[in-house]
Amino acid sequence: MNVDAPASSPPVGLLSLEDALERMLSGVEPLPAERVGLGEALGRVLAEPVDSLLTLPPWDNSAMDGFAVRSADLAGASRVRPRTLRLIGESAAGHAARVAVEAGTAVRILTGAPLPAGADAVVPVEETDGGAGPGPAGGAGPGAAGGAVQVYRPALAGAHIRRAGSDLRAGYPLLAAGRALDPQALAVCAAGGHATLPVHRRPLLAVLATGDELVEPGTELGEAQIPDSNTVGLLGQAVEAGADARPLGIAADRLDDVLERLRPALGWADVVVVSGGVSVGLHDVVKEAFESLGRLDLWRVAVQPGKPLAFARAARAGATGEVLLFGLPGNPVSSFVTFELFVRPILRRLAGQAQLSGRERVQAHLGERIAKAPGRRAFLRVRLERRPDGWRAWLAGGQGSHVLSALAAADGLAIVPEERDVLEEGEEVEVIVLRPLSQAVGR
Ligand code: AMP
Ligand code: MG
Repeated sequence: MNVDAPASSPPVGLLSLEDALERMLSGVEPLPAERVGLGEALGRVLAEPVDSLLTLPPWDNSAMDGFAVRSADLAGASRVRPRTLRLIGESAAGHAARVAVEAGTAVRILTGAPLPAGADAVVPVEETDGGAGPGPAGGAGPGAAGGAVQVYRPALAGAHIRRAGSDLRAGYPLLAAGRALDPQALAVCAAGGHATLPVHRRPLLAVLATGDELVEPGTELGEAQIPDSNTVGLLGQAVEAGADARPLGIAADRLDDVLERLRPALGWADVVVVSGGVSVGLHDVVKEAFESLGRLDLWRVAVQPGKPLAFARAARAGATGEVLLFGLPGNPVSSFVTFELFVRPILRRLAGQAQLSGRERVQAHLGERIAKAPGRRAFLRVRLERRPDGWRAWLAGGQGSHVLSALAAADGLAIVPEERDVLEEGEEVEVIVLRPLSQAVGR
């Protein structure tokens, strides 16, 4: 085999993954922006840049629990020769002191509380006697004016003060358009004075399972029945990709049942995913259903697992725009992989994400020799293991497209190019990481 050959074109009649994806993505734009409350914005993508509405902190405040002082009062202070300052009040978070610090005085201050006028430093409580000592006005408990504090160290001007505007400035950029809103981003927007944010609408996805053999998970199996595992898996993949997803149930292998369940979804869904029934078997009615609902675009892609695969566009019922229809293979591993490769990028584009796969990739050395059919790009389910010389990939189990146990055990999908049929142990492969790599460390 000539391993130096350029990425060969797929066999006649099969589209390459890239060509198929390009055709699917054509005309697909991020969904319109809407304003949502911070509480609903997690995972959404900003449709516009956001500026800070506030300066934060709004005022100089203390970074420590301690005493607001004038640094000049504390020159030469030490444990042996402490300086005694008269306590004239307290500044607690949410309750500003109305007193000003003057020569020889201090204000007890708590973290986050406004710095009183006149003070130019904060002395942490650890560098004092705690301020419980009796002062000219007699002993006073913490929090009250009166009493005195003994300070054991000099203070540098500005010490332990958080300056106004040291975090955010009103009118300055906070986050760029395209930012996916994680908890950190939401927090900074809240701090910047926003209660709502302009985000792309979430794509809406409908999932239909087809197959006379399928029953709801958890149901006792009759003769020749198996649980429908694709629906819940695909709904989860859709949510992970940033969509809202709803099931359309399980259709029998009959055109009328498939159509009846799909038609209402054309009124609300952006994307419809059907699993099973898409090949050329006697009872495979999905292609026919797509042809009667819209325009069938392509159905053969050179990926493994992944054949057969159908893609169609239908007019949105009662509105302008298109609904994208995917007919994924029924085999559970194939439906997972084809969703990952084709539907996930579409959903991410609709959701406004710039990066369409949203997956990390790592290079890994194969822990074992692997073989696959030539002519199609294979996505093998592998476990990753961190070694001193990098990542090592092992098959996570059987590679049959029905073997869900290996899919569940896999950390990622190892990509084997079209033109290869054997890779030797030690050869390098690229792996699409599906689960946090921390789980693969220390095995
Ligand atoms: P099909 O693409 O309809 O020919 O189905 C291929 C294989 O996948 C068959 O073994 C089906 O029983 C299985 N299959 C199809 N749909 C599902 C599903 N929703 N859950 C689990 N297995 C399925
Ligand atoms: Mg079927």
